[in-house]
Amino acid sequence: KRKPLVAGNWKMNGNRSLVTAFNDAFENNAVDNVDVVICPPALYLSAFSTQAFALGGQDVSHLDNGAHTGDLSADMLCELGCKYAIVGHSERRDDHGESNSLVAEKAKKSIASGLTPIICVGESLDIRESGQVESFIGEQLDALVNGLTVEELSKSVLAYEPVWAIGTGKTASPEQAQDVHEFIRGYFAKVDAELAQGLRILYGGSVKADNAKTLFAQQDVDGGLIGGASLKTEDFISICQAAN
Ligand code: 13P
Repeated sequence: KRKPLVAGNWKMNGNRSLVTAFNDAFENNAVDNVDVVICPPALYLSAFSTQAFALGGQDVSHLDNGAHTGDLSADMLCELGCKYAIVGHSERRDDHGESNSLVAEKAKKSIASGLTPIICVGESLDIRESGQVESFIGEQLDALVNGLTVEELSKSVLAYEPVWAIGTGKTASPEQAQDVHEFIRGYFAKVDAELAQGLRILYGGSVKADNAKTLFAQQDVDGGLIGGASLKTEDFISICQAAN
C-alpha cells in the first residue's frame, strides 16, 4: 500500500507570520499516516522549526552551481533542510518556458542530491477539449522515462495537475482525476510493474477541505498538491487528515 502524501505549494505567497502559524498549528494537530510537505518560498525555509512536516523547494536548478542568477541548486535546498522539490509545475513551464526534457533533468539532479522530486504533469483546457489528454501527458511522461532510470523514477513522486483546475476553483471530478491517474500508472506499468505499483501520484488543482476526501479516495490518487488551500493552517490540516 502506498503511503499518502500531501504537499502544500505556497507559490509566491506567505510571510514570516504564516511560517510561525504553521509551526504552531502542526505542533498542536497531529496528522497520522500521511507524509506532509510544505514548499514555501525558499527565503523562508530556515524559519520553520517544526519536525511535523517535511520541507520542499518549489523549483530547483538542473545544474550544480555557477553563473545562473536567481536559481537555487539541489544541494542548497538540502542544506536548508529540504527533502523534496517540485519540478515541472505548469507555472514554471509557462512563466519560464521549461521544457519536458529540462523537467526530467531537474528531477534527475534532485535525486542525485537526495531530494525527492514531485514531478508535475497536466493538460490545458484546449488539450482536454480537443481530446488529447493522454497523448499530451504521454509526451510529458516520455521525457521522464527517457531521462531517468527505473531506480530514479522509483524515488520520484508524480503530480497530475490539470492546468484548467489550478487556482480556478474548477476541481477535476473524482472520475476525471482517477481516469488520468490510472492512465499515468498504466503508462509506468509498461516500463516496470513494480515501479508503477509503488509510484505515488498526487492530484492538484483546486483541492479544498470539502472535496479532498472524495478525490483522495480514488484508487490511483495517493494524495494531493495543494495551492491556495495550503495557505490556511486549518484548511491544510484538514486536507492532510483527509488523506489518512
Ligand atoms: P490551487 O490548489 O490553488 O488550485 O493550486 C494547485 C497547484 O498548482 C499546486 O501546485
